Amino acid sequence: MRLYWEQPYASEFEAQVVRAWSEGTKHYAVLNQTLFYPTAGGQACDTGTLDGVAVVEVLEDAKATGQVIHRLESPLSEGQTVVGKLDWARRYRHMQRHTAEHMLGQAFLRAAGWNVVAVNMHSPVCTMDFDGEPDEAVVRQAEALANWAVYANTPVRTYFIDHTEAETHGLRRSPKVTGTIRVVEIEHWDKVACGGLHVAHTGEAGPIKITRLERYKGGTRIYFVAGWEALELFDQEHRLLARLGEKFSSGLLELEKPIENMRSEWYRVRAENAALKDELAERLMRDLLAEFPGLTIAAKVPNSVLDMVGKRLAEWPGVLALLLAEAEDKTRYVLLKHPSRSEDLQALWEAVLKPLGARGGGALVKLGVLPLAALHKALEGFQKYLSSHS
Ligand SMILES: [Zn+2]
Repeated sequence: MRLYWEQPYASEFEAQVVRAWSEGTKHYAVLNQTLFYPTAGGQACDTGTLDGVAVVEVLEDAKATGQVIHRLESPLSEGQTVVGKLDWARRYRHMQRHTAEHMLGQAFLRAAGWNVVAVNMHSPVCTMDFDGEPDEAVVRQAEALANWAVYANTPVRTYFIDHTEAETHGLRRSPKVTGTIRVVEIEHWDKVACGGLHVAHTGEAGPIKITRLERYKGGTRIYFVAGWEALELFDQEHRLLARLGEKFSSGLLELEKPIENMRSEWYRVRAENAALKDELAERLMRDLLAEFPGLTIAAKVPNSVLDMVGKRLAEWPGVLALLLAEAEDKTRYVLLKHPSRSEDLQALWEAVLKPLGARGGGALVKLGVLPLAALHKALEGFQKYLSSHS
């Protein structure tokens, strides 16, 4: 028996285990009655405990026997009487989401004739897909209508009818099932077939906030939050804005200005920095060419321009060079030669840099890292190697 339909506000119940079984590490139980709502109709299942055993998931039997199956953290015994307790905070949030979804469905229909195509309410930010073209004005109007319905605080009722009566009841959507169908009616607002759980008055589902809209599958997808989850989201966003406001010494609603200023300043500084590095690399290359007239160069250069100096020297006919730079906790190196040089770069690397713990590779230009302490040894080794091989 599905107690949750008759008592959507009850969070504790007693029941008997009528069936219990395990599949590997997964344990299951069916009860003679339950308050646990199974995942169905876009609404996520309840969680909680049965005699202290965690209920991790609740499913509707796929074979449509109508049984509600509780997946448990550890096994229960058949015949056992158990006390079930719901995670009420979770369930209430699901009821708020679900009621808000009905209210928005009707609000979009009234605002622009849009129909609901699909719904997902498995996380605090829920989505609804509609068959209308994305339109910010429609979204704002529907949001306002839904919140008027919140403030009207009208009763939400449920009852069963036969599917043949659906038309005379004026349901918003034609029901997908035949036989007995459950109707959820928001007085003076909306009537729809639904097996989910809802709050008793619309006021409990507010505030309803649409946070985003986007084009989706030829229609519009909206994202919304409702009830406690809307309040929690506002709170998180407000705290974030407050932290940013403090950092920028700015009013929260004026934050865009200092952020925009910082962005444009950052772009300017970045461009200026690139130009200065370019100029420095060019000067260093000229200095090195003058300092080493034989074009066999061994030198330490600033890390910020190591690659740029290396790139320039590699294009200079006759150059063989080892450039080294201190980079925080390591030494970075560039070992390079112009194709006109006859030295075997690989042999040079293996004789000089590899014994010092070098990592890296490349054919005409070898880039890599060395331990920090190896910088001077690498410079000396390079010069010794060349004098002994010339
Ligand atoms: Zn519903």
